[in-house]
Amino acid sequence: MPVYSYSRIGCFENCPRKYKFQYIEKPPIEMVEGIEAYLGTVVHETLETCYKLASLGRPPSEAELLGLYERTWADKFPAEIKVVREGVSADDYFRLGQTALRKFHARYHPFDQETTLGLERNVSFTLDPEEKYSMTGFIDRISRDASGRLRIHDYKTSSTLLTQPEADADAQLALYQMAVETMWPDNPGIELVWHYLQFDVELISHRTPEQLARLRQEYIGKIRRIEAATELGNFPTQESALCNWCEYLSLCPAKGGTAVAAPPPSAPPRLNPRELAAVIDEYLVLDSRKKEAEQRQQELREIITAHAEAGTTTFLSGSGGGWVIVTVNQAMKLPTRSADRRTYEQIREMLQTAGLYQPFSALDMGKIQDALETGALPPDLSARLRPLAHIVPQIVVRVRKPRQER
Ligand code: SF4
Repeated sequence: MPVYSYSRIGCFENCPRKYKFQYIEKPPIEMVEGIEAYLGTVVHETLETCYKLASLGRPPSEAELLGLYERTWADKFPAEIKVVREGVSADDYFRLGQTALRKFHARYHPFDQETTLGLERNVSFTLDPEEKYSMTGFIDRISRDASGRLRIHDYKTSSTLLTQPEADADAQLALYQMAVETMWPDNPGIELVWHYLQFDVELISHRTPEQLARLRQEYIGKIRRIEAATELGNFPTQESALCNWCEYLSLCPAKGGTAVAAPPPSAPPRLNPRELAAVIDEYLVLDSRKKEAEQRQQELREIITAHAEAGTTTFLSGSGGGWVIVTVNQAMKLPTRSADRRTYEQIREMLQTAGLYQPFSALDMGKIQDALETGALPPDLSARLRPLAHIVPQIVVRVRKPRQER
């Protein structure tokens, strides 16, 4: 399973087809950067350098900060840039950045209100104790204030100001709080801070442990929906105002484009008969070892699961720092053709009527169960399928190895 980011998940929610272009097919198209994204990148880089200089005891003057901005803007300006809004030019955006940085400088110079702990810091974290659902992201700045409280900063160059209730419901910085909590667990509190540079506004919000626990579940659900869509190849187009900024507009089927197929994987090298025989020998040895290991693992698994409680996740530790994590739940099970032919045919008919027979053409009950559990099927079809499923115990056994073995 890939490591997800807030923007990757957001991309799927805005348009599943764009997600497929961007993260799965990756067609070789020429990317033309949008002016809004360019402004954001240059302002972020300028502020990163500003805080680096400040931490060296050389906080930049206003003229130095604006000079830095102007040089970065000019040095990185691409050959082609996309300006979607009518009646405005790239120069207008440049001046917008200048004004925003002037306000920032007036408010925070000499930038010593807090101790900077990280700039453009890459963080990774998991949403579940089994470490199945992983996320990553970049934090613009992490700081510690005089009281020891940690602050997660995000710079915004957009022309729309978030309201306080929107900030209190925002997920991105709250997700990053999960990472910061593990980086500095001994802290008196964490504050989420948005700097709306055009408005000279600092918005602050906090999260309780209960809110973070709910957010974890919410994002596990989102990732599971993306995984189910990937399994089914279900990436419908979702048109919106964002299409104007979409890099894949010319390929998009909803816009009259023709999507290109991903290039086929390259073939493995051809071997001479001797080399091939050696590969086959090695394969057979590994295969027999695998069978022995699987057999023994199955015996051990039965002993271990007898020590787990139904309806919970149990953590069982070994002697060397490793863990086995056992989850005992109930799961839906649809009948196979040989077990219950009548119900099987009934399900086939339902899928045909719903126009979903193609994705499940082999009537793969595992895939249908996944789609049922993750809400990937139309609600009326789910309601009719559920009574046909049996509820059976589902036991999941995972391992967490000692740190040095990971
Ligand atoms: S143009 Fe619109 S509908 Fe098409 S992939 Fe892009 S965002 Fe989705």
